[in-house]
Amino acid sequence: MTSSELVVQACQVHKSFGAVEVLKGVDLSVPRGGVTGIIGPSGSGKTTFLRCMNRLEEVDSGYILVNGEPMGVTVRNGRPVQATDAQLAKARENVGMVFQSFNLFPHMTVLENLILAPMKVRKESRSDAVEHARELLDWVGLGDRTGSYPSQLSGGQQQRIAIARALAMRPTLMLFDEPTSALDPELVGDVLDVMRKLADGGMTMVVVTHEIGFVREVADDLVFMDGGVIVEEGDPREVTRNPQHERTRRFLHRVLA
Ligand code: ADP
Ligand code: MG
Repeated sequence: MTSSELVVQACQVHKSFGAVEVLKGVDLSVPRGGVTGIIGPSGSGKTTFLRCMNRLEEVDSGYILVNGEPMGVTVRNGRPVQATDAQLAKARENVGMVFQSFNLFPHMTVLENLILAPMKVRKESRSDAVEHARELLDWVGLGDRTGSYPSQLSGGQQQRIAIARALAMRPTLMLFDEPTSALDPELVGDVLDVMRKLADGGMTMVVVTHEIGFVREVADDLVFMDGGVIVEEGDPREVTRNPQHERTRRFLHRVLA
């Protein structure tokens, strides 16, 4: 596989907060259309790694390329220089992120939540943005909720709206950080169904989740992180059925219990 077919290439990523080293040399490649699941105990660095991917955090050393380009860095006179805020915003358009807490704008309707960034950042006309938003809302099964406010929706509905809002920017990579962890159990399925549909449609995805069944079924690759390193990586069915490391075994035992 040539590197241009890799949407994410992370190489020896190190990241510390103060004296605490949170990522201790993480490598990851995600091919176009690939779905990578990341599992691991709380505090292992999963969220930090995702945040480094869209440059909400800067890495200390190593690098992450998205679509072959270093996010937040451009080349001037043959030397890497820090991108301007505008260049960084442009690069981030390619990367959608969905969080555990849905993070919708509470004072805006569903439709307004979806059209804001496409109009502001992508300079889409209002009518184009509205048309695309309606398509996406139909696609997540909430075409009848355009005029609702987030507080009028269930957590599962809000999360599906959050996914639609991320997709409104036409990203080439979607990052999910425990998207179903804050949901009541009966609402988890609808959100996973939307994510499954997205994967089936060929979206490149990195999904941090404790939903082992989803990962087994949907992911092409599974990463187990612990203590800021990738302990084990491979075919999701293999890793979950026949983990090679004691730490992976212990974690799976706890999650599946
Ligand atoms: P996970 O998502 O796997 O639970 P995180 O990436 O959130 O792990 O956190 C890994 C470690 O980094 C934790 O010990 C956490 O306290 C620490 N950490 C995360 N973000 C910050 C921050 N902004 N400042 C200081 N420490 C942080
Ligand atoms: Mg986390």
